[in-house]
Amino acid sequence: MNVFISVDIEGISGVVHADMMMPGQTEYGRGRRLMTEDANAAIEGAVRAGADYVLVADGHGPMRNLLVEELHPAAHVMTGSADARPYCQLEGADERPFDAALFVGYHAMAKTFRAIHPHTIAGAVVHELRLNGVPHGETGLNAAILGSLGIPTVLVTGDETTCAEATGMLGEGVETVAVKRATGRNAAVCRPLAEARADITAAAERALGAIGSVTPYRPVEPFRIEVDFLTMPQCDRASRTAGVEQVGPVTIAIASGPTPWEQYRLLWAALRSALYEPASFLA
Ligand SMILES: [Zn+2]
Repeated sequence: MNVFISVDIEGISGVVHADMMMPGQTEYGRGRRLMTEDANAAIEGAVRAGADYVLVADGHGPMRNLLVEELHPAAHVMTGSADARPYCQLEGADERPFDAALFVGYHAMAKTFRAIHPHTIAGAVVHELRLNGVPHGETGLNAAILGSLGIPTVLVTGDETTCAEATGMLGEGVETVAVKRATGRNAAVCRPLAEARADITAAAERALGAIGSVTPYRPVEPFRIEVDFLTMPQCDRASRTAGVEQVGPVTIAIASGPTPWEQYRLLWAALRSALYEPASFLA
């Protein structure tokens, strides 16, 4: 059994504030250690379920947060800048036929109430992302893209709000582990770490033992992916990617493309363009 594990940081046990989330911030070292521990809990569950190959994809910000030397010995890790990863958080998911995916430390979509740092892929530019007209966050979008590859997402961990989003989007069949209850963007009641991690291990083992009962999340193809940006210049920059059409002052659409997997690559290319600052004489 091959298992793909995507790990973000906002939904990790004990992480509630930006000071634990980015290099240079005072508590970042603690944040990445906590992230590594939740990832290890999921990897251990995969091993107990009989996984032969586990690929852990570091999926937050600099994309090299996981402490490789402290990672579970059974895991391979995809680590390194998203600028060198055309498929962003899902880089590597097509390298072999994965049987299932686990999302660890995930967060709610942009504009969600009572969730730790809700955003969709790039909070600095994305106001809302829609797939076939329905707002999607990273949980729904990534599950849909993996679903198009035939890979079911069987476990999501994060705050309670993120878990509710996952169940609403992917159905009751997905296992969830809520590790904290957010009272706002930067505060939550966190469960005891040992208890939350034990739950992640047990849920991963249980979910991977019942893969057959979960159908991959598969919205109707071809996908129509739309993004509303925060500003018009961001949208202008994003729309220059071939295959990406500007359909409004702050909105792009990715309506064609050979496959959802390729649409995801176009999406990330467009978002990177939106994130790049132009030379001063072009502004
Ligand atoms: Zn993140």
